[in-house]
Amino acid sequence: MQKQSWSQRTNVAQALGKIDGETRAVVPPIHLATTFIRDDDNQYRSGFVYGRPDNQTVREAEAVIAMLEGAAASMVLSSGMSAAAAVFMSLAPGDHVVVSKVMYWAQRNWLLTDAKSWGIEATFVDSDNLDAVRAALIPGRTKLVWIETPANPLWTVTDIAAVAALAHGVGARLAVDSTAATPVLTRPLELGADIVMHSATKYLNGHSDVVAGALATNKQDEFWERIARFRRSVGTILGPFEAFLLIRGMRTLDLRVRAACASALDLAARFDGHGCVSTVLYPGLSTHPGHAIAAKQMSGGFGGMLSIRVKGGEAAAIKTAARVALWKRATSLGGVESLIEHRASVEGAGSPCPTDLLRLSVGAEDPADLFADLDSALRDAHRN
Ligand SMILES: *Cc1c(COP(=O)(O)O)cnc(C)c1O
Repeated sequence: MQKQSWSQRTNVAQALGKIDGETRAVVPPIHLATTFIRDDDNQYRSGFVYGRPDNQTVREAEAVIAMLEGAAASMVLSSGMSAAAAVFMSLAPGDHVVVSKVMYWAQRNWLLTDAKSWGIEATFVDSDNLDAVRAALIPGRTKLVWIETPANPLWTVTDIAAVAALAHGVGARLAVDSTAATPVLTRPLELGADIVMHSATKYLNGHSDVVAGALATNKQDEFWERIARFRRSVGTILGPFEAFLLIRGMRTLDLRVRAACASALDLAARFDGHGCVSTVLYPGLSTHPGHAIAAKQMSGGFGGMLSIRVKGGEAAAIKTAARVALWKRATSLGGVESLIEHRASVEGAGSPCPTDLLRLSVGAEDPADLFADLDSALRDAHRN
């Protein structure tokens, strides 16, 4: 077993090289059974009892994610939101959390509304400002710091290692929503984070056909056991068919992410200075405020997500999105098809998202075609 010496890219391409013991198939079967036979001496030696707590296909997906993140353990759940909620709901009533102001909108809304009834008090900070993070921490009460980097939809970059040190200084854990970075570019646990969360709906699966979430931890401590118990008791495990698709999607993760990074950088450079665009938000541009930290904690690229602010305001932005032919006008991100979205329409009141912003998820298409299509839509929208 030399497996440990092979690279992350090699291991993910083969989904850890697992083959089916019975048939020698290079693609393991999907385990759909919800129940398992007890041994005649009343034991369950296979380790499997019932489908809500556990599933072999789910375990195989988790092994791949744990490898990708360099984690002690991983857990896959029914969605990114259920993964995040499992972490927050494993806190105790009265616990205080510090979270990024710029973050996935549905999670911000959940924290602002429903999380309160669980006794969770959240302070929202500009997590790219370390003084703001430090000032928000309450020694003895802050139990979790939650950041997203790069963060939706401004691609704000937070220094994972620096925030980890601050969080640990008051005895809090650091959790990182690493959906946009992916483990190809950033491995938060190696930078000091305690928990990594992914909307596996996005890059990990990569084909816009599975809703899934993932968590990874640097240690299987009592808090991780609480999270595991939450999934087991409430039944927010991922379905076996989705886990199978997720494994299949992850086999091309490295290739997809590298291609998306190269295309996104190309598009960011071309739209930077474009006559119809006031600002390009992309951590790969040296003008982006988070560029230096991104260069430090993202290796091999700056991600496949960028946003442009359209001259002429909200109306021009919406008009531009209406006139693309190749880009798909849809929410979500991280799939092989490129998506464009007027983000303020989704996020609603209270969002830090400017109304002239279009969020771009760069897929696997030819970047020259992606540029030509959006360039023509921008010009068209500005003409009439
Ligand atoms: C989509 C997304 C989520 C939520 O994940 P779901 O799989 O839709 O529940 C959380 N964080 C980020 C950054 C996302 O893009």
